[in-house]
Amino acid sequence: MSSLSELRKRHPDNFGWRLWNVWGDGRLYSAYQCDAFADEPTFTAGCSHGNDVPSDACACGVHYVTNTENFFTTVEYLNNPATAWDWPLWSQVYTFGAAIGGTTLDFNEGEFWLERPRRCATYRILGIVLPGLSSNSRFKVLSALVLSSPRQQELAARYDLPEVHRHKAHLAERYGVPIMTGQYSIGDYGNLVHAGRALEQKLDKCDTLAEVASLG
Ligand SMILES: [Zn+2]
Repeated sequence: MSSLSELRKRHPDNFGWRLWNVWGDGRLYSAYQCDAFADEPTFTAGCSHGNDVPSDACACGVHYVTNTENFFTTVEYLNNPATAWDWPLWSQVYTFGAAIGGTTLDFNEGEFWLERPRRCATYRILGIVLPGLSSNSRFKVLSALVLSSPRQQELAARYDLPEVHRHKAHLAERYGVPIMTGQYSIGDYGNLVHAGRALEQKLDKCDTLAEVASLG
């Protein structure tokens, strides 16, 4: 008998946050590799180079940011109209999860997320945060400022905010994890999993990360 907090203490490098987008059918897909869909709460990265993921020989793996504050501070930065990327912001979703098996640092040495992200082969989603509804107004500002390219306009038409909120029920059903919307403080995100009693009770029975992965 263990608990999530004990598992985190034993495996401090194996828990972290990821940025995803939501597809039209309510599935999450990688914000960096748009053909990588998470059909289930357990998501495994492939490697086209024939290496065992994660390998020092290539950049493949499921990437995540271990520090909650670093993650959301960077998300804020990415959503700032002055610094925004060519990015479908209106379909963003953030997950907290467990890295199963070995982990290593990002291939890239940069600390773009205020830390150098880690990567693993398999990541088990344990909780989902949707952007706050306040991002509606932010999106309108963004639309006027940066949605100028044909691709951005096409994406805007497809994903008018709050697209992710329309998918909330689908996300809950598909991934079976607690979901928060973004009007909470960063400190609350640390307790995300505890918002889902059923999942927390299952996690309490897990002594190892492998058992977390096999929750189904
Ligand atoms: Zn590879």
